[in-house]
This record gives sequence, structure tokens and C-alpha cells, in this order.
Amino acid sequence: MKHGRRNFLKSMGVASMATTLPLAACTTIDNKAPAVIGNGKMKLSFRPYELKLRHTFTVAGNSRDTTPVVLTEIKYEGFTGYGEASMPPYLGESQASVIGFLKKVDLEQFNDPFMLDDILEYVDSINEGNRAAKACVDIALHDLIGKLVNQPLYRLWGINPDNTPMTSFTIGIDSPEVVRMKTEEAARFRVLKVKLGGGNDREMINTVRSVTDVPIYVDVNQGWKEKHQALEMVHWLAEQGIEFVEQPLPKTAVDDMAWLTENSPLPIIADEAFQRLGDVAAFKGVYSGINIKLMKSTGLREAHKMITVARALEMKVMIGCMTETSCAVSAASQLSPLVDWADLDGNLLISNDIYEGMKVVDGKVTLNNLPGIGIKKIYPST
Ligand code: MG
Repeated sequence: MKHGRRNFLKSMGVASMATTLPLAACTTIDNKAPAVIGNGKMKLSFRPYELKLRHTFTVAGNSRDTTPVVLTEIKYEGFTGYGEASMPPYLGESQASVIGFLKKVDLEQFNDPFMLDDILEYVDSINEGNRAAKACVDIALHDLIGKLVNQPLYRLWGINPDNTPMTSFTIGIDSPEVVRMKTEEAARFRVLKVKLGGGNDREMINTVRSVTDVPIYVDVNQGWKEKHQALEMVHWLAEQGIEFVEQPLPKTAVDDMAWLTENSPLPIIADEAFQRLGDVAAFKGVYSGINIKLMKSTGLREAHKMITVARALEMKVMIGCMTETSCAVSAASQLSPLVDWADLDGNLLISNDIYEGMKVVDGKVTLNNLPGIGIKKIYPST
């Protein structure tokens, strides 16, 4: 039996992981036989899908009712890993650009899905941009390897699923009547994220505060233009029980951001300014922390490295999402026990999810014990 297990690990290229993983990770949760890694080929397939938003969503500079995504599958030896690319318009990717990229991805040259470094380095080298397109391959690959060993990803990373954070629920810029209604609807969340930068900032906060006293995260989406006015507003927000402010100034205003962060009573978090792993070190001193999203980071593997680097630099870490199905949101949730703040509500904003995965229970991100990213397919209710 022991000999068999050793051969199994060796054949999967994970022998070195066995020294750091609990023994249980080498067997399976439900005593199913683990997959045998043979000479199979990975097959990538993809299709466009349009997410319908429950409410029109408005942030500084943008308003929309739908979000285009591309759903991917990687099949290997009878197992299927699921992935997703989400393309809110401001990211510069589209279903056409993602599908164009995925047509260039040849996974059939690899016969061992555990060779993540090799496979994802190849995928990253195909084009400079296309971060969401790269993410949908990365997510499907991680889902696949979790299914092959029949373990949730958090176990493969040694992450305690009990340490998941609360997730915020986002309130977009709107009239006081709509903001009040949305805040009342969000009563089951213990944290709210309020979008500002639309010219009615105090009205937005005062309206939310007239309904609830839960902690509030603020996201300005680069909507403030002048640093002294920004600092004055941050001081006012600190008095209203706000926890931090995300991307208050334009991403190009690096010196102004550094000044604001130095003088701010609240942590200042980079979102639009922050994309890849290589950006993290340069943000030390400019921002208090970073907002990691899989659609920017090219997926889970780089997101996990970003958390490590940010922690080494003593920076705060937030994990967020786009408007996404439970596929990409559940993938990000696997990393959420490692962060300070989570904004993982993208799947709750849509009416036609086709997956079921992470749940929000009493406001807390709650992981299941399904293998991989922890999702199963369902049929949309609308
Ligand atoms: Mg943001």
C-alpha cells in the first residue's frame, strides 16, 4: 500500500509535496481511488456567456446591466476542470479577444497537468496582455488538479478554511432611494462596500448610514482628482466608520497617491493601478495594500505569489472579483483565508449563475469540501 502510494505521487510529479502535506492529502476525502496520470492530453474548450445583473450597476465612469464572460473547460483522463474569464469593459478585454487568445493555447503539448510552472509560463508567453483570458486557463487547470487528487485547493496549499474573512457586498452609485433599498436588501452582510466618486459621496455614505452601522469599505474607482480634497474626504470618511479607501485617485497619479497614503488616517488600497506580481514591490510606500483579482493576476498561481510578496513587504491584502459566476468567485475564495479583506460578491450580483460553490454564511466566505475550486454545475433559475 505504502509502495503504491509512493508510486502514485511520483507518477503525478507531486512527490515533493508529500513532505509538507498531511497524510490525508495523499489519500482521498471519500476514499475514491485517485486518478492515474497517464499519457492523456489536456483538451481546452470554451464558450461565451452573458451574465445578467440583478440591478444596473454604476461605478465612477461606468454603468451596465450585463457582463460578458467566457467559460472554459479542460478535460483530461475523464476529469473536467472549470474556468472563467470575466470582462467588464474597463479592463480592455472582450469575448472576442479572449476567444482569439484561447484559440492560440495548445495544451495538448502537455500530458501532465501538475506541471503548472511550465504550462502557465507558456500560456503567459503567448501575448503580453489578455490577463482574464490567461486566468480562465489557470482556474480550470487548478480545478482539474484538485479533482485529480480529489482535494480542495485550500488543502493542497495548507490553508485553514475556517479562517475565511467576511465578504463585503457592493452598493453602486445611485439615488438615495435606490441606495436605501439596496442597503436594506443587503442586511445579511456584515460589511458593505460603497462606491464613491460620482459627485454625491456624502449623500451616498449618509444614506447607507441611515440604514446600517456595519463597517464600510469605500471604493472610489479613481473618481477623485485632487489630493487635498481627497485627504479632506478621507478624514470625513474615517469619522463615519469606514475601514479603508480603494483607488481614490487616478492610477497614474503616483506621487499624489504616495502623499495621500502618508497622510491618510485610513489604509489606501490599490486596485486599478495594480495588475501583476511585478507591480507589488513598487507599491510599497505608495499604497497601504493591494486588491488582488484573478482577472488581473492571470489567475490563482500568481495571486498566491502576490499574497506572499505583499506579506513580506508588510502590506495589506484584499481579494476581490469582477462580476463573475460562482466559478471564478469560488476559485478566489480558496485563497481568502490568507487576506485581510474580501470583496467576493460578484456571483451574488447576477441572476443566471450556472455554478454553485462558495457560500456566504452570516456574512462570512464559507468553503465546501468539493475538490478543486469547489464548484458544481447547476441550471440558471432565470
Ligand atoms: Mg475596486
